[in-house]
Amino acid sequence: MLLTSDPVPVSTPARHSTLQAVVRNGERVVTIGGDAPVRVQSMTNTDTVDAIGTAIQVKELAQAGSELVRITVNTPEAAQAVPYIREQLDRMGIDVPLIGDFHYNGHRLLTEFPDCAQALSKYRINPGNVGKGDKKDKQFGQMIEAAMRWDKPVRIGVNWGSLDQELLAGMMDENSRRSEPWSGQQVMYEALMASAIGSAERAVEMGMPKHQILLSCKVSGVQDLIAVYRALAQRCNYPLHLGLTEAGMGTKGTVASTAALSVLLQEGIGDTIRVSLTPQPGESRTQEVVIASEILQALGLRTFVPSVTACPGCGRTTSSTFQELAKQIDDFLRAQMPVWREQYPGVETMKVAVMGCIVNGPGESKHADIGISLPGTGEAPAAPVYIDGEKALTLRGEGIAAEFQQLVNRYIEDRFGASSAQ
Ligand code: SF4
Repeated sequence: MLLTSDPVPVSTPARHSTLQAVVRNGERVVTIGGDAPVRVQSMTNTDTVDAIGTAIQVKELAQAGSELVRITVNTPEAAQAVPYIREQLDRMGIDVPLIGDFHYNGHRLLTEFPDCAQALSKYRINPGNVGKGDKKDKQFGQMIEAAMRWDKPVRIGVNWGSLDQELLAGMMDENSRRSEPWSGQQVMYEALMASAIGSAERAVEMGMPKHQILLSCKVSGVQDLIAVYRALAQRCNYPLHLGLTEAGMGTKGTVASTAALSVLLQEGIGDTIRVSLTPQPGESRTQEVVIASEILQALGLRTFVPSVTACPGCGRTTSSTFQELAKQIDDFLRAQMPVWREQYPGVETMKVAVMGCIVNGPGESKHADIGISLPGTGEAPAAPVYIDGEKALTLRGEGIAAEFQQLVNRYIEDRFGASSAQ
């Protein structure tokens, strides 16, 4: 008997049950939480006053796959620019909802610039930055009133870098009177959640529909983020926005965000995500969207772009041809996606394999929709191509890369093009 009596359970991410928020921009509706897929968010780093520059970056982020884009609204000039940014985007045919990020003066900006309040699809409110003492409740209340007046959802976004210091000090005092005080870190977790949930409750008391409130409690440590969000998900059913704040640059930022988000997403926690990556000099802002999408795709939660399986290469292949081809194909597929999403529905589920030698090449290629196994060192200079699991042809000579790209193109047209439905 080859099979044991108990099969290994198939691993599938869980889903934490939440309310569903609805974010609208005209006809475009983006649901968050409930049965909606986990959404990808991003944020611009342009000066919002530069309406054209900001609109161009929003367009790039949306075309890279960002389903919501946040812009900072920090001054009266920025608030004045917001309706103009929206108008520019509408003219370019970009309907991605815009989220306004407010700190310190959001109550004034949302009241004094109604066109801004109306043009935005959602507001982010940081309860640690809405004012101190008596002003805090009043100014927070003014922002919630604006959200209700314009029928916009809000994210109550707490960040440990700007945590409500009065709340934290009160909790620290209370903790010091405990017979067995908690650690400072544990009190911090409580303060983050108390700020988020307490602010949400105040908004609900004011009449804000509960399902239109999202929460986030961002911290910069991976284990801290996991601990806080696990507890937050147990304590409330608001949709949750997930992200490691100040994740950092390059590999470090990518790995830290992936580690933290993956653990939580696998447990079903998180309804929108953002990868807060500091771009390397000259790097496109869209990189944070690419990574967020890749995390969701790698976990099997969403499919955004056709996946390219490529072997890492080893001593069996001395040429870099397969690395170059894999990169070329990956870049090509990604660059085409904004057009293909409309033209070839379902193309994002396609799997392409580019392998370096005969060891795993044919096997991996057969598992892909279309795959190529390039010749390793000492192997005959031929590259078999597999289509839908069958060997279809063999490519030879200098033009292998270009010919394979043409075959991929043709495969997409045949399988996902309009004629394929007939
Ligand atoms: S497929 Fe071949 S070249 Fe690629 S890693 Fe495996 S053995 Fe090495």
